[in-house]
Amino acid sequence: MHHFEYRDDTLYCEDIAVPRIARAVGTPFYLYSHATLERHFKAFDSGFEGFPHLTCFAVKACSNISILRLFGHLGGGADIVSGGELFRCLKAGIDPARIIYSGVGKTRAEMREALLARILMFNVESAQELDRLQEVAAELGTRAPVAFRVNPDVDPKTHAYISTGLAKNKFGIPVDEALAEYERARDMDNIEILGVSCHIGSQLTQIDPFIEALRKLKRFVARLEERGIAIRYLDLGGGVGITYDDEQPPHPHDYAAAVRSELGDMDVTLILEPGRVITGNAGILVTEVQYTKVNAGGEEEKRFVIVDAAMNDLTRPSLYGAYHEIQPVVRRNDGGEEVVDIVGPICETGDFMARDRCLPRVAQGDLLAIMSSGAYGFSMASNYNSRPRAAEVMVCGDRYHVIRRREEYDDLIVGEINVECS
Ligand SMILES: *Cc1c(COP(=O)(O)O)cnc(C)c1O
Repeated sequence: MHHFEYRDDTLYCEDIAVPRIARAVGTPFYLYSHATLERHFKAFDSGFEGFPHLTCFAVKACSNISILRLFGHLGGGADIVSGGELFRCLKAGIDPARIIYSGVGKTRAEMREALLARILMFNVESAQELDRLQEVAAELGTRAPVAFRVNPDVDPKTHAYISTGLAKNKFGIPVDEALAEYERARDMDNIEILGVSCHIGSQLTQIDPFIEALRKLKRFVARLEERGIAIRYLDLGGGVGITYDDEQPPHPHDYAAAVRSELGDMDVTLILEPGRVITGNAGILVTEVQYTKVNAGGEEEKRFVIVDAAMNDLTRPSLYGAYHEIQPVVRRNDGGEEVVDIVGPICETGDFMARDRCLPRVAQGDLLAIMSSGAYGFSMASNYNSRPRAAEVMVCGDRYHVIRRREEYDDLIVGEINVECS
């Protein structure tokens, strides 16, 4: 359920007509619904009510500090994967004691920053990372709280690029090796073992792989306890999918119910790291049609709709062949339909928002809404082709706020130095 709906053939975000915002801020822009963000966070979090838990939003899915701030107010924490994300969370007022640090490549500087901020826990992904963390914590005269990210070798049945819990993926430590790492960690002066974590992939549409991973984790925790290593936090990662097209992902409450039933009376605090399921359908990308054209030279006629958003703004179609529903912002009920490629201005054939898509006939100047763009949308945007990044706007009821202004040309060369070698 989200708050992007038509009223008299015009798309609204909550109580504001989308064309009104487009006139004020220009296109392309990302548009988020505050009510939807809040609703999705609560829908997820409330499934675990009564069980000790912490919902740590995966910052990489949608990183704007106004949005992080909202989740912080709702009692959420954050799952970060870089020093930059830590910086954002602190700016957004997220309690460091609710921050989890994941990722395979943490640098010394990043470890230091996170230790100084006193985050809740590092999810360690290799033996070398553990050694480095011990060193950095010793230098600071502190103890680093850790979980190991174990790789449960479970097939999440999702896109290969976002599957992370198979033995062949780069993430985590194989369960069998992890035992030895916990024993090593126990004997380190500046390491404190707090938990066990896993994250098996993204956009999962079935519950079974989560439960299979949880079973393996439970068995693993039991083996740790036999060795006198107590676990306080169990981190199940993120990965619950959303509907882009005709997928039927589990409702967050069904996911929560399955997890809780498998946990039984296990005495741990659960950590969850949802990203996409919270923000994915709470944001859209609004773009304007620049040109339409027909290329009739080849074997078949091809119709193109050229819009002012491109793969630098929304990478998912190019990167994963991902499907995003595309809707006219103002519905005209006269023009019929046609099959088109919706493409951007970037000089790459891979620059498309949709291919062979049946769309109501559109004309120059029409606005289109690229739906389900609230996760891995703006956060993956770049300046490729020297395109200033789009604005981000959040609607709260009948008001809207620009939460990131559109970049200007000067922003493109921030940090560049005009050197002439003579
Ligand atoms: C990406 C990621 C998440 C969030 O995944 P979603 O599919 O967006 O829920 C959570 N945890 C870790 C470690 C991740 O890398």
